[in-house]
Amino acid sequence: MTLGALADLAGLLLSPPLCAACDANVSRREAFCPACEPSLLEETARGPDVAAFEYGGAIARAVTRYKYEGQPWLGVTLGALAATALARLARPFDVVTHVPLHRQRLVERGFDQSALLAREVARAAGRSLQYALLVRTRSTEQQAHKGRAARLLNVTGAFAANLDGSACFQGRAVLLVDDVRTTGATLRACTEALHAAGVGDVQTLVLARDA
Ligand SMILES: [Zn+2]
Repeated sequence: MTLGALADLAGLLLSPPLCAACDANVSRREAFCPACEPSLLEETARGPDVAAFEYGGAIARAVTRYKYEGQPWLGVTLGALAATALARLARPFDVVTHVPLHRQRLVERGFDQSALLAREVARAAGRSLQYALLVRTRSTEQQAHKGRAARLLNVTGAFAANLDGSACFQGRAVLLVDDVRTTGATLRACTEALHAAGVGDVQTLVLARDA
């Protein structure tokens, strides 16, 4: 982080808290202002991946600002919101990890959005965060512009577990965190890679479910 970025961050920490979707002033405990809050959609369609919200409204605006408009500090707020879904997991887990960003995109964006969310989820759950337990073995093109079938093909075999020959994850239960689930193809490919490396149980938790 450059000195300028540090100064920006320090300024933000000292300034009043702002709505994650629109920058209106909010109280320290609120993620969204009274105008944005009603657009939040609690997850309704229960599937294999636990989601805190349906994608849309204030959550969609906050995710766009977080990922594409260079506001990494929103990861703290959004991670805490993702953690509200922890109570709906079916089983206990030992360690938290995240869907990884490809190195090239990490350089472009400057932060791994899912890793920052996973850090807050791990903190809320009282579990350790295993950073970069998974790696992308090839750069997948942006999923957002692809149809369902193309997304599935795009991520198949794109991940591997980065265990460095360690046996410490053999048979362990892992919680895998991502920002937005669309088809679930990325989460499935990551889950398969973890199982292939000997991880026992894998559960998945996302901030928002899209579709
Ligand atoms: Zn707002």
